[in-house]
Amino acid sequence: MMERRCDWIEKVTGGRLIGAPSDKNLLVCGVSTDTRQIKENQLYVPLTGEKFDGHQFAGQAIERGAAAILWQQDRPLPERSRVPFILVEDTLTALQELAKAYREESAVPVVAVTGSNGKTTTKDLIASVLGSKYQVHKTQGNLNNHIGVPLTLLSMPERAEIAVVEMGMNHAGEIALLSRLAKPDAAVITNIGESHIEYLGSREGIARAKLEIKEGLRSDGPLIFDGDEPLLEKYLTDDTHPHVRIGWGNDMDESPENIEMKGAAGFTFRSKSKKTLFRLTLLGRHNIKNALFAIVVGRHFGLFEEEIAAGLSRVQSTGMRLEMVTAQNGMQIINDAYNASPTSMRAALDLLAELEPQLEKWALLGDIHEIGSLEENYHKELGAYAIQKGISRIYTVGKRGRWISEGAREANRDSARWIQHFASLAEAGEVLNQKGNSGVLLLVKASRAVQLDQVVKNLTEGE
Ligand code: ATP
Ligand code: MG
Repeated sequence: MMERRCDWIEKVTGGRLIGAPSDKNLLVCGVSTDTRQIKENQLYVPLTGEKFDGHQFAGQAIERGAAAILWQQDRPLPERSRVPFILVEDTLTALQELAKAYREESAVPVVAVTGSNGKTTTKDLIASVLGSKYQVHKTQGNLNNHIGVPLTLLSMPERAEIAVVEMGMNHAGEIALLSRLAKPDAAVITNIGESHIEYLGSREGIARAKLEIKEGLRSDGPLIFDGDEPLLEKYLTDDTHPHVRIGWGNDMDESPENIEMKGAAGFTFRSKSKKTLFRLTLLGRHNIKNALFAIVVGRHFGLFEEEIAAGLSRVQSTGMRLEMVTAQNGMQIINDAYNASPTSMRAALDLLAELEPQLEKWALLGDIHEIGSLEENYHKELGAYAIQKGISRIYTVGKRGRWISEGAREANRDSARWIQHFASLAEAGEVLNQKGNSGVLLLVKASRAVQLDQVVKNLTEGE
């Protein structure tokens, strides 16, 4: 983690220290933006959010042992303080400058991961693979934005030998900024979907925004990307970085072959280029592609095939991402309530159709947020897709979720099929509790805000 003196912080942020002259030599160990989690001797960075202004909590930060405080110069300074303040123009920019400077002084290679879907999964797969050889520092959870990425860089421990950093975005320009902070040695673009299309205009816009990851990528650093996505190819024309295409197609630099499904235990597959056999304990065919990104990154950083295979096989799925659970009534549930985009919902329906052929396939689907003015179409298409995939019962919740039901009804030609929209989560829970049984595999998926995980909780734990 960042251990630096106050005069260093002053220098890299262009700030001005308010305190005793000796405070310039004061050592700060780590950075926090949250006084509820701050630790002794850390630098407190107050940020201004929609609801709160972190400057209000400076007193609390000092009580909890903050060594120093960054302070935005347009905020009134407290009259006296036990700890020095460093006045800056903007605390968020200063946080990013700290991260950038800290990163520049470090020799630790950084792997950056962006994409519409699969960033966290791929980040965790890469970290697991690299963990066979190196001490790995990685993004905690989903801290992937303009605040999370600086905090990830600043929390890198002294002993870290490599870092894996997830980068998310809602708007054009954001990935460029993050990439310039992190200066990656290798970059991964997992795929292009439809998330945040309302801010980016089109899938073209999304592809271009993800490609901003090149901005900070070292000139000989490989850009490892979804070769199945023509838009990435289209906008990559005049690039100088080495390109590595990962995908299902024939003309890829790396792709999987001999894929064998092992039911709830995941897959085995071989790397097409080296024929190595890999075992992956994650569900969902798309995770094979995510694993290939990790394999290629592992090779780039000098791991042997056996080390990579061992790292992959250690991966466990994190909560609510394609997690297999059993309801009290015996029904098997694929809990993917963590989040949804049209792409990931299609991927999850593919998985549902493919897994456990002896079971009847049901889906409980809900609203997908942030997909812009075409949202009705996207939802209806997903309903039709569920029909096409042979899902026998399609249940929906939510205002947008209703469109999934409508799309399914329009596409349905089979009178035995069941399509039902629920007015509430409680009703969904009740019906599924009553009707579900051990002959059923149920997929549960929607945007996070829909809180379908509550239905899963009811089904597995009871009221
Ligand atoms: P977020 O934007 O919330 O950070 P993320 O990009 O980190 O999302 P994950 O959390 O890894 O993505 O996975 C989210 C969803 O995307 C999961 O539901 C999973 O089913 C789906 N998914 C993962 N990888 C892919 C892929 N390569 N293609 C399509 N869908 C995928
Ligand atoms: Mg994520």
